[in-house]
Amino acid sequence: MLEDCVIVRYGEIALKGGNRSMFEKKLSGNMKIVLETNSIQARIEKISGRFIVEPKNAREAAQIISGVFGVTSTSPGFKVKAGLQEIKEKALEVFNASKPNSFRITANRLEKTFKETSMEVNNIVGEFIQEKTKCRVSLKNPELDIGVDITKDNAYIYTERFEGVGGLPAGVSGKVVCLLSGGIDSPVAAWLALKRGCDVTLLHFLHEERNKRPGKIQELKEKLCKYHPDIKLVYIPTKEIEKEIIMKVPAKMRIVILRRIFMKIASKLANEMNARAIITGDNIGQVASQTLDNLNVIDKASGILTIRPLAGLDKREIIDLAKKIGTYETSIQEYKDCCNFLLPKHPETKAKLMETEKIEQQLDDTLTEKALEESYEG
Ligand code: ATP
Ligand code: MG
Repeated sequence: MLEDCVIVRYGEIALKGGNRSMFEKKLSGNMKIVLETNSIQARIEKISGRFIVEPKNAREAAQIISGVFGVTSTSPGFKVKAGLQEIKEKALEVFNASKPNSFRITANRLEKTFKETSMEVNNIVGEFIQEKTKCRVSLKNPELDIGVDITKDNAYIYTERFEGVGGLPAGVSGKVVCLLSGGIDSPVAAWLALKRGCDVTLLHFLHEERNKRPGKIQELKEKLCKYHPDIKLVYIPTKEIEKEIIMKVPAKMRIVILRRIFMKIASKLANEMNARAIITGDNIGQVASQTLDNLNVIDKASGILTIRPLAGLDKREIIDLAKKIGTYETSIQEYKDCCNFLLPKHPETKAKLMETEKIEQQLDDTLTEKALEESYEG
């Protein structure tokens, strides 16, 4: 028995008062993009508090849509006219497809135009199935829970729920620039930003020659695009900057200063793009460059709000998330990140702003501008 539609539920966005219709529009647009990316043609209809999608393979589509940010759950289901007789017949068919030992009906009037209350529908449809099949009703622990969502025109009948990723529809929170290294953490940070509705541009500082697009970084972008296909990736080569740092900065301070230059460049890019924040994969105390002292000094170089979504997580938790979202296997591939070349045996862990700025005065300050001019898309 093949389902003919997908019932899509969305949570938090229903709470957002005046912005609600904008949020719903974004969510519907994002679902459409994700379905098209998966070569699925489907009509998307807005009903009261839900979306109904009508693709060829509703089960597959329900699974795919459950990964769209803003969706709390999806159910493959059946659409019938909003009439008691139609509901009874379809519910019985659904029952017969799995022949459980116990069942219940869970009706939901999405619009109050339907004459019977939800409770009455539960009783009427439940009794009908019980009579026909002699099956036991169990309200607390049924083997089969038959959901019935009723609108003015239609009823949607379903038995399964795929949990959605939640969050907000990508794009509703505005633009951000995410600093993407080849490591485990920053793709997770980027995913969390996407999850909170950010329109993400990934920025990778590249140790290699201009116009290279390393497979690993491209692959990380592709993995994130599975959640929202509309993600940009920008490369900025840093060889010249690295050379300058090696020549003029004491080994101990190199990483902190390189990070500050990252921040300066990222802030400029963010301003050019009208982005509202920078996102990084930093995590308090994880490595030498991430002590609170160093993060303070690094943060001062950023001209705009910098958000570190992983600040409070343990590495174990970050790895679990990376595995869950599918970036882990790519992240652990070997890669020559620019930072590795500047990493001394004993990096500074207590950087001071004044001293750092003093060292930076020796550096050619046209390099950040030049680096930005060298940027290209991945
Ligand atoms: P990650 O696993 O994300 O590399 P990490 O724990 O290894 O993080 P660092 O290498 O110190 O930490 O990097 C801290 C953050 O700085 C990264 O999460 C990322 O946001 C940013 N970053 C580091 N290297 C680069 C790079 N080459 N290009 C862009 N951003 C970078
Ligand atoms: Mg790293």
